[in-house]
Amino acid sequence: MKSKPNPDVSALFEALFRRWGPQYWWPARTPFEVIVGAILTQNTAWTNVERAIARLRVARRLSPRALRAAPPAELAELIRPAGYFNVKERRLRAFLDRLFADFDGRLDRLFALETPRLRETLLSIPGIGPETADSILLYAAGRPVFVVDAYTRRALVRHGWAAPRAPYDELARFFTDRMPRDTQRYNEYHALIVRLGKEQCRTRPRCEDCPWRFALPPGGPRGAAGSRSP
Ligand code: SF4
Repeated sequence: MKSKPNPDVSALFEALFRRWGPQYWWPARTPFEVIVGAILTQNTAWTNVERAIARLRVARRLSPRALRAAPPAELAELIRPAGYFNVKERRLRAFLDRLFADFDGRLDRLFALETPRLRETLLSIPGIGPETADSILLYAAGRPVFVVDAYTRRALVRHGWAAPRAPYDELARFFTDRMPRDTQRYNEYHALIVRLGKEQCRTRPRCEDCPWRFALPPGGPRGAAGSRSP
C-alpha cells in the first residue's frame, strides 16, 4: 500500500469517531475557565490542571476580576499542582492585564474581535503560543480554527504527511485545507486526536489495533523505529 499524498481527513475523522465517539470537550464550565485551563495545561498533564482549577474554584477565583485581585503569591500557590506555577502565574496575569487594559476586563469585548484580529491579539500576549491561542479560539470563543498539538504532529509525521519540523500553521492547514470550516467538527477532531495520541500513537506506536492503521505508509510508521518518538 502506498502512502497517500492527499489523505481523506474526513475518513480519518470517521475512523476515530467510530472507535471512541464524542469526547465532550473542552472539560470546563465557562469560557474563562477554558482560557485558564489552556494556559495551565502547557507542559503538564490535564489531571494536574484539574486539581489547580478545583483549587481556584474553591477559592472563588474563577472570574477575570477575582483572579486579577489575587496577590501573586496566593495565585501561584493555588495553581501549584499544574507545575511551573511561577511562570504560569505570570502568564495568567499577562492575559488578565491585556483583558483589562484593552477590553475592560470583559471576555465578550475581547471575543467581539474578528478571528484573525483575535488570534493576533492572543498571540501578542507573553506566554501564549499558537496551540494555546487556538485552543482559546476554538473552545472558548467557538471559532473554526484547528488546534495542533504534539500528538497531532507525531501522528502526521509517522504517516508521512508532514515533516518533523513543519511549522504549526502548515500542520493546521493539513486539516483546514481539506475540510469545511466547522467549529463542532474541529472541536471533536482535535479531542479525538488527543485520544489517539494517548491510547495508540504513543512514544511506542500501537498500530496493530489503531483506527488510523488503514492509512499507514508502506513499511509502517515513519520515524518511530519501534520505540522512538519522531
Ligand atoms: S499508532 Fe500507528 S497507525 Fe495509529 S496513528 Fe500512530 S502511526 Fe498511525
